[in-house]
Amino acid sequence: MNLKYQLVFATNNQHKLDEVNAKLGDGFRLLTLNDIDCHDDIAETGDTFAANATIKSRFIYNKYGLNCFGDDSGLEIDALNNEPGVYSARYAGIHGDHEGNMTKVLEKLGDTDNRNARFRTVISLIWEGEEHIFDGTVEGTIRTERSGSKGFGYDPIFQPDGYAITFAEMSMEEKNSISHRARAVEKMVAFLKHK
Ligand code: IMP
Repeated sequence: MNLKYQLVFATNNQHKLDEVNAKLGDGFRLLTLNDIDCHDDIAETGDTFAANATIKSRFIYNKYGLNCFGDDSGLEIDALNNEPGVYSARYAGIHGDHEGNMTKVLEKLGDTDNRNARFRTVISLIWEGEEHIFDGTVEGTIRTERSGSKGFGYDPIFQPDGYAITFAEMSMEEKNSISHRARAVEKMVAFLKHK
């Protein structure tokens, strides 16, 4: 029999699930919130990515006692004092209004020369009762206009360092090989593979 470790990912986002599954390999079975019948609205009230990731992992661990992890991501722009940060999903007021969020960023930046920014992901893993934090970043710049139609969120205005195209012009494979989320996930996977 092929025994697998079970691990709850505090999300129902299929895209994220596929990405983590692809990196985890066969030794682990990932469960979503739906899989464990968790339909609570876990409020992300923290003021850092780590705080929000921890809110999710602790909620699951406290309620179900299972090995689990939660994540939180967003965009930090130097000239905007690291905004939109934890407010990335709802920067323009409505959760998930990606067009409005990009418009707000472009308007606030105007013709500012310093367009340095980064995407950041923080993962909080609770493994056998102990919390472990993993962080991944990708540095880049904010374009003055949108370019490309792939991906989601701020991808059309984010150009990663070392590239002349935006995230929204990259294939999913290419983006996933350098993204903030991929880097945080790889650190967690390296930790888990020693279990
Ligand atoms: P989440 O915590 O991963 O759900 O991300 C929160 C918000 O950050 C998203 O709604 C997007 O606005 C932004 N974001 C996170 N990751 C990305 C990305 O890879 N590309 C573009 N936007 C992202």
